[in-house]
Amino acid sequence: MPTVPPVKEMERAYRHSDPSYDGVFFLGVRTTGVFCRPSCGARKPLPTNVEYFATPREALFAGYRPCKRCQPMAAIGSPPDWAERLLSEIEHDPSRRLTDAEVRSLGIDPARARRFFRKNYGMTFQAYSRSRRLGKALEQIRRGERIDDVALGYGFDSHSGFREAFVRRFGRPPGKARSTKHITVAWIESPLGPLIAGATESNLVLLEFTERRMLDAQFAALRRHFKLPIVPGDNHILAQTRNELALYFAGKLRQFSVPLDVPGSEFQKRVWQELTKIPYGKTISYEGLARRIHAPRAQRAVGHTNGLNRVGIIIPCHRVITKNGELGGYGGGLWRKQALLELEQGKRKYA
Ligand SMILES: [Zn+2]
Repeated sequence: MPTVPPVKEMERAYRHSDPSYDGVFFLGVRTTGVFCRPSCGARKPLPTNVEYFATPREALFAGYRPCKRCQPMAAIGSPPDWAERLLSEIEHDPSRRLTDAEVRSLGIDPARARRFFRKNYGMTFQAYSRSRRLGKALEQIRRGERIDDVALGYGFDSHSGFREAFVRRFGRPPGKARSTKHITVAWIESPLGPLIAGATESNLVLLEFTERRMLDAQFAALRRHFKLPIVPGDNHILAQTRNELALYFAGKLRQFSVPLDVPGSEFQKRVWQELTKIPYGKTISYEGLARRIHAPRAQRAVGHTNGLNRVGIIIPCHRVITKNGELGGYGGGLWRKQALLELEQGKRKYA
């Protein structure tokens, strides 16, 4: 069950229209009967007139209607109805190629669909469906089905068209697909907002809170490191990550066991490796971390490398703070760093 942050924190968030809280909580305004996301640009209600909700659903059931201005139903992590419809069209029949005209015939503006997919998946709707189609085709070829059958089954008119699309996406022809690797990406819901996760068939390679609004850059970095295409979907590594995170947020898991792959320079690998040795519930300083990897003068580089960590929470960069006991920095927003530390210290519960 999603819960909401402390009231004082939520008040501060909506007074500053802080977009990093979008999708984390929603506020209903009693005087207008409307509910908003925290970043809404509308006039700020008095705290006494505000009611808080963890999900749009709860706000709706409490009788509030979505604000026309900030469109809280479209918050990241809970796709609006029309996007759900598009997503399930693709999942149920990946062979179907939805043209702009067909999207329009579903009552959806294709330009809006493109914006939504670019913002939430780092690619256009057409690119997303193409990825899903090729991803599913790839699964079938791996299971041993004939390439021609698969090509036709997935809406490619010709073997050569399929082959071309396949090579563009996966960097090699479908005949070699049994060994073709790619990175599967998916969303994982958490009480602190949605995370984007990426995994190969054997390792988790990405786990980050999404409001960094850096998806394109993150995906580009992944492609550079792994030289692999990125395909939306799900696999057993992502399922394991989802399970372990749920236990972690319930306070029932202290040590993750999902296998990781985090390519980087020798220095980066040393820093990230050392991070995994900081016990659950404990913190160390940037100075302490630099000393532990025998690079006491490299504090700044250590801090920077800490910030480049691609597998948040599991490689616990949130456990590094300043020597004065201040939080320092955090890519996912300082309030999340605070929340993770409080969870681990038993001061916060999400069960
Ligand atoms: Zn609003």
